[in-house]
Amino acid sequence: MSALGERLREMIASDGPMPVEQFMMLALSHPTLGYYATRDPLGAAGDFTTSPEISQMFGELLGLWAAETWMQMGSPPCVHLVELGPGRGTLMADALRAARVCPPFLDTLQVHLVETSPVLIERQRATLADAGASPEWHADIDTLPPGPAIFLANEFFDALPVRQFVRTEQGWCERLVGLDAEHRLTFGISPAPEPQLATPAPVGAMLEIGAIAYRTTIKIASRIRREGGAALFIDYGHTRSGFGETLQAMSRHRRVDPLAEPGEADLTTHVDFDALKRAARATGAHVAGPITQAQLLKSLGIDQRAGSLKRNASPQQAQDIDAALQRLTSTDPEPGLGERPAPGMGELFKAMAILHPQLEGSPGFPPLHGAQA
Ligand code: SAH
Repeated sequence: MSALGERLREMIASDGPMPVEQFMMLALSHPTLGYYATRDPLGAAGDFTTSPEISQMFGELLGLWAAETWMQMGSPPCVHLVELGPGRGTLMADALRAARVCPPFLDTLQVHLVETSPVLIERQRATLADAGASPEWHADIDTLPPGPAIFLANEFFDALPVRQFVRTEQGWCERLVGLDAEHRLTFGISPAPEPQLATPAPVGAMLEIGAIAYRTTIKIASRIRREGGAALFIDYGHTRSGFGETLQAMSRHRRVDPLAEPGEADLTTHVDFDALKRAARATGAHVAGPITQAQLLKSLGIDQRAGSLKRNASPQQAQDIDAALQRLTSTDPEPGLGERPAPGMGELFKAMAILHPQLEGSPGFPPLHGAQA
């Protein structure tokens, strides 16, 4: 059992079972023993790989999206470019390089990185050392300075803790992490149902509520509504709210038991884009999408970008570019990391944009329809 696992067992033995949300929060973000506090989890030698780590094309296209969004905003003289959960800083480095096609945008922007992991902050500092950006780091979005802002977030929302509820004969009972007879971590449910939850569902159904993601979206969307700007969220998730468990733990590119080694495996859930869309619209902001990652990258021009990179590439590099293009946009089922095949990244990942109402659409997204708010 991991050091954090031991700590959790002591906490539960003294205070009783804890909600899944608190378990996720501690497993991911405990200041000394949490998963993100202690390592760089990305890449082939880590636990999982993300789109910007697969290919420079991903960050480049998002950089062009940001530059075009800034022009649609009327090219304000000052703009904040904010990335949430920037990992190794690769997406931002690629985005800034691509944005060189629009020098006035680069001249006006201030980069902000919202990150809690000290290990990844150091990694981001090194990656961006020569990007000419002088980024500012923030532990959360509350300390961002006022003014128009463009937000980017890839695989950020999936890392935010969720509450889980299980439908019983009595109602919706919160899922908890407790101890079994051998003192091992185990899932259970609260004895009393949650009186506020009344959604009908068959006994055994699971409901996940991403309250932190919802609140974060409300904050970002209200800020965009008030001060101008836009946000682009990309993550794996679903476009319609529904039932079912999506909590998963990843270690060394394999799925593992989420309770086996807390603090040693990445924990994520699928993002409920339907809920985030409702949150954003409730503030009066407009929303484009969600659409699939494949749709977004294709309409932002990933095929053309791959073509131009291949013109200066060796045969081996050209093969790698094609493989990355295929991986980022594939909609075919892949063998899957767990027991069953999963849809390709192009289909599993969704993209959604939050827009100030003055913006009439968003690059790469279909036109907005009718009244939005
Ligand atoms: N966007 C990157 C990394 C994704 S991993 C990429 O696509 O490669 C998730 C990122 O979110 C990590 O940088 C992690 O440290 C950060 N993170 C997780 N929870 C966070 C929180 N509550 N606040 C800020 N950053 C967080």
